[in-house]
Amino acid sequence: MKANLDVLPLSSWIDTAGKPLIIAGPCSAETEEQVSETVSRIAKEGYAHVIRAGVWKPRTRPGSFEGMGEAALPWLVEAKKQTGLPIAIEVATPQHIELALKYGIDILWIGARTTVNPFNVQDLADALKGVDVPVLIKNPVNPDLALWVGAFERIAGAGIKKMAAIHRGFSNAQETKFRNSPMWQMAVELKTLFPQLPIIGDPSHMAGKRAYLYELAQRALDLNYDGLIIESHRNPDEAWSDASQQLTPEALGEMLKSLEIRKASYGVEFQNELDQLRQKIDNIDRELLEVLAARMSVVEKLGEYKRENNVAVLQLDRWKELHNNRADLGKKLNLYPELVEEMFKLIHMESIRKQTEVMNQQPA
Ligand code: PEP
Ligand code: MN
Repeated sequence: MKANLDVLPLSSWIDTAGKPLIIAGPCSAETEEQVSETVSRIAKEGYAHVIRAGVWKPRTRPGSFEGMGEAALPWLVEAKKQTGLPIAIEVATPQHIELALKYGIDILWIGARTTVNPFNVQDLADALKGVDVPVLIKNPVNPDLALWVGAFERIAGAGIKKMAAIHRGFSNAQETKFRNSPMWQMAVELKTLFPQLPIIGDPSHMAGKRAYLYELAQRALDLNYDGLIIESHRNPDEAWSDASQQLTPEALGEMLKSLEIRKASYGVEFQNELDQLRQKIDNIDRELLEVLAARMSVVEKLGEYKRENNVAVLQLDRWKELHNNRADLGKKLNLYPELVEEMFKLIHMESIRKQTEVMNQQPA
């Protein structure tokens, strides 16, 4: 895929003093008191650069809490006054954008269920023409990189240059540990396509459960993400949406303190060392492939020999012996058993394929 995006660096529209951007706040704005208490406790902790809250909630099934709508916007205006922090909300229709701008909301985000639909995204882009507001775009619910890229292109087409991606994971067909599978590779591919595009991890919606937030947040930082968006509620268990994944403002503070922030830029010395180690790996990989090729040429000879003597390609005893022997060798070399097992399965499969090919050739 080829694509181009005119996007400004994060630091041009928000000052995080060189640290990862932290967006914190409740999944939903529920009541005036809930917003006020939650944001003041977040502000007191001092880690947040932006406050988040959902005002219109896209719920999978009707009958769940669908957000307070416009009534919640004055509470957020108040939250901004109270904390001095900019406010971010989700918008899904042109009317949402109109209202958000009317109340002076600072940052908008497009939710995962909206990113999937190019008609919706185009409607939002049309409503954003001539407006200067940062727009964050969550990945679509399904792992389709082109949909995510397309959403950026549409919003950029409206003249928006303050953009960032939010990686919130992808929905699963089966039950998995996480509510949404991170599929980190998708975000890495987006970053490869648009190196200048800031990317923010959303461990809350990946995890679905408090217990997994830390590992997911750390993983995002290890991948050099520009920030995190994490849900925090004054009383998580009583939250009207996403109760099991929210943290109190204080617990979020503790978690953020325990995260390891890797250096974003490296000195020349580090880069040199890195280059040398990578060169060594390149050389070893070439040797690995040469050894593999040498093994295959012996396999070919073996195939010819079996053909001449009319012996079957697969000899189960030999495979069992080989399998056990390689597992032992691998263990002695401290290699992860599954790596050795899977690798030899593949190698053995290729040996059989090669020998079958030889077996079916006419002798020279
Ligand atoms: C949210 O941020 O509360 C939300 C609804 O997220 P998503 O669009 O990722 O499901
Ligand atoms: Mn939520």
